[in-house]
Amino acid sequence: MSAFSQATFTASVGNPDQLLAEGPPEVVFAGRSNVGKSSAINALTGRRRLAFVSKTPGRTQTINFYDLGATGRLVDLPGYGYARVPRAVRTQWDQLVGGYLSRRASLAAAVLVMDARHPFTPQDVALLKWLAPLGLRLLVLLSKCDKLSRSQRVAALSAGRRQLAAFTPDGEVRLLSSLTHEGVAEVRTLLEEWLRDAGRAAENKKAPGKGDINRGRKRLNQN
Ligand code: GDP
Repeated sequence: MSAFSQATFTASVGNPDQLLAEGPPEVVFAGRSNVGKSSAINALTGRRRLAFVSKTPGRTQTINFYDLGATGRLVDLPGYGYARVPRAVRTQWDQLVGGYLSRRASLAAAVLVMDARHPFTPQDVALLKWLAPLGLRLLVLLSKCDKLSRSQRVAALSAGRRQLAAFTPDGEVRLLSSLTHEGVAEVRTLLEEWLRDAGRAAENKKAPGKGDINRGRKRLNQN
């Protein structure tokens, strides 16, 4: 059975000091508000309302943790880039998300959800520049691909791969539709593989300190 289908909500954290203790490998989901991130998480876990599909984008400023059995955790970051969010909320986002991303030893992989019709916005690029040097596995998920024709989908995928290659040599790009479920099984398999690899790398360390896990990450990326 897929680890993703066992996902259970564990915690919702609004303050970087209240993050869960380090544990199994984590895959983090980030993306602009309204890009379809909650729907993608629901589709990948096979739940209708595991991640709340927001009606007021940009308001939820929490990091949500979901346990995937022993395989790992799924971590949902608050959306970004909603034009009408006040400056104070943006500062809160920077502190909360920056605090998580910069210090999390358990973090193994990042999924950047982008609208397949408008990928690589300036804010997506800013986050990519930030994520690339962390040595994580990186997946760009081109969401709402049901809105593209077949030929547009092929073009979006190859353009996405070209654009991502400017930031990291071994990132992955996939199309996803939470509506038709195109790409869902494939993405789930890829992420489970990454989590299992990270879990094995962590087990191979006798006393896994942060430095050890960081070295493991670099080695993974040299494959
Ligand atoms: P989030 O703010 O990134 O979590 O985005 P949501 O998951 O709440 O989705 C925002 C809007 O896009 C909602 O109206 C969804 O119904 C719609 N949406 C999400 N995923 C898809 C998709 O794969 N295809 C289509 N056509 N619409 C989608």
